[in-house]
Amino acid sequence: MPTLDSLQVLAARAEDLRARLSHANYQYYILDQPELADSEYDHFLRELSEIEVAHPEMITADSPTQRVGASPQSDFQPHSHRQPMLSLGNAFNEEELTAFDEKVKRHLGLAEDADVVYVAELKIDGLAISLTYDQGVLQKGATRGDGFVGEDITANLRTVSSLPLRLRPPHPEFVEVRGEVFLDHAEFARINAEREVSGEAVFANPRNAAAGSLRQLDTAITAKRKLSAFLYALGASSSRGASSQKELLETLKGWGMRVNPEAVVCPNIAAVIAFVATWTEKKASLPYDIDGIVVKVNSSAQQQDLGAVARTPRWAIAYKFPALQGRTTILDIVAQVGRTGAITPVAIVAAVTLPPNSVVQRATLHNQLEIDRKDVRIGDTVLIQKAGDVIPEIVQVVLEARPEGTQPYKLPETCPACGTPLVRPEGEAVTRCPNSAACPGQTAQRIVHFVSRRALDIQWLGEKHVTQLIESGLIKDAGDLFSLTKEQLLPLERMGDKLADNILAAIAASKTPPLSRLVYALGIRLIGEHSSEILARQFGSLEKLQAATTEELNAVFEIGLTTAESIVAFFGQAETTELLSKLTNAGVCPVTDVYTAQAETFAGKSFVFTGSLQTMTREQAEGIVKKLGGRASSSVSRQTGYVVAGESAGSKLEKAKLLGVTVLTEEEFAALAEGVGGE
Ligand code: NAD
Repeated sequence: MPTLDSLQVLAARAEDLRARLSHANYQYYILDQPELADSEYDHFLRELSEIEVAHPEMITADSPTQRVGASPQSDFQPHSHRQPMLSLGNAFNEEELTAFDEKVKRHLGLAEDADVVYVAELKIDGLAISLTYDQGVLQKGATRGDGFVGEDITANLRTVSSLPLRLRPPHPEFVEVRGEVFLDHAEFARINAEREVSGEAVFANPRNAAAGSLRQLDTAITAKRKLSAFLYALGASSSRGASSQKELLETLKGWGMRVNPEAVVCPNIAAVIAFVATWTEKKASLPYDIDGIVVKVNSSAQQQDLGAVARTPRWAIAYKFPALQGRTTILDIVAQVGRTGAITPVAIVAAVTLPPNSVVQRATLHNQLEIDRKDVRIGDTVLIQKAGDVIPEIVQVVLEARPEGTQPYKLPETCPACGTPLVRPEGEAVTRCPNSAACPGQTAQRIVHFVSRRALDIQWLGEKHVTQLIESGLIKDAGDLFSLTKEQLLPLERMGDKLADNILAAIAASKTPPLSRLVYALGIRLIGEHSSEILARQFGSLEKLQAATTEELNAVFEIGLTTAESIVAFFGQAETTELLSKLTNAGVCPVTDVYTAQAETFAGKSFVFTGSLQTMTREQAEGIVKKLGGRASSSVSRQTGYVVAGESAGSKLEKAKLLGVTVLTEEEFAALAEGVGGE
């Protein structure tokens, strides 16, 4: 039996959680400025509902576990939903999905080994809306609000082109249709780029941008932002609904509604779990954000039997993908010198774990403009996320948690590595150290780049060793690596006999790199891996590349004027001449990347792979394209050469068809590659 004291502690905790969650709801739903990471919110909500399940007497009518969202703001007219808009229960792992399935069976009185048929749908990360059609004509569009009363945003929703203003017959006399409004990645990037140019604060993510666009008092602004929508449910309706969720989706399509094409019928929970696994892998390939998978009992009769509790139906659950965001505090901000002299402010943060399993202690702050915009300060509590899978970045500051006495952060005026005054040309975001020839910070980064995995791939030589070698005066540039001796290495701190041998062997083994890698390793400004491959293929030798004029370079497909100028400038520098002659003297001799003559079929063509390939991995397929002179890209446009559609290809395939881009099957792609000398 819990003691009176422990019950008091629990009650106090419940009250604290209710207050936190109510505040978070207001920030999230009304102001569109969340202060908690979604995972934190979910964690608190779960803790509260666990307390309430164990102690029902602690449930209050206004508990966030009992109600949805937040009451509407006064800027818009209220709109009462005829049938409430509920939320969904959450599952965070396979076990919880299985537990949901078991509960469904228990409620339906089915045997433990019986199968329930489900529909699994993508959980679109946008805003829930309800559309009211009377005689097939759109009368009202509203947000979910607190589930009973939302905001009337009809004028804004009329601007969303994927929402029909009139339903295609046959349709019921009256119906409420529910779905999600969202912004796709391309439109999100366009809006943010525009805001950046006009000096406005950029949106933290597409959901935020969609919320900000939908709840605009000026409809003209909403119209300019190309919002999209997927519809997936009904509210009140004058006619008997569909007999299953699958049939409902078909009906919605028949009325002219946009329905997400990825929804599938799953014969049992195992199939649902497989669907979740597939999309956990594939979700990044979608042109819009999803934050999970919604699992719905397919049969409408079973749905009715199951009914709802408080704020959630018993017949559906939302599986949430592991959070990519976390919350931490900024311990320090350091200015890092890059190989081209760019100074990048980096936040040193208290260690935080982001999925799948990476402990993050540093995050890029990009540049001074970004710092100013987000007003990131040492001591701040921040939301942090991994951008594009690799580099963690600060999403936003939790202003409420800002300690007293913090100061806005300004980059130093002189280079932290060499003391030279830093420069930031008018209108540019990046601050630079102009001392490219002698700044030890830049030198170290150039060498680190030279030896990195995608460049010459000299193992055993990390940043620490490179810095050590520079500080001890043994090397001044990457060319000096090749004349290092064991006697020079051994006196260095923490350098053993074996390590010295390994380093020297790795250096010796890197003397015949493919030309493209050597070009990349040189670290020419604006030249990444892809451009290096183009240049290597076009010029065939370092000497020819070195001798090329700006015009000749600019004439190469995909090499623009600025890039061409950057290449010419690089080869014109005295340090480059010195580096190249050291490399030649050391016997570094690039080998020509192998290209077949027929490879020109692929040259300059971009390939987009979509769906799952059966006979090769996506990386292998992209490797073939590159090897044959083509380019692998992730988004489809009119410029795309070919779209290769594997199994369950989705929106990219649709887009390719719309744009008239040639679509190949995996076999056709393999045959084409074979024909031009591929694997
Ligand atoms: P939810 O996000 O857990 O799931 C329900 C919602 O999913 C529906 O209302 C609907 O809008 C959406 N959805 C998307 N695709 C769907 C589909 N195919 N079928 C059915 N529904 C679909 O619940 P919620 O009540 O909308 O929001 C709660 C969540 O919002 C929290 O779990 C949290 O992640 C986030 N939140 C965060 C904060 C914060 O401070 N960070 C505050 C409040 C809420």
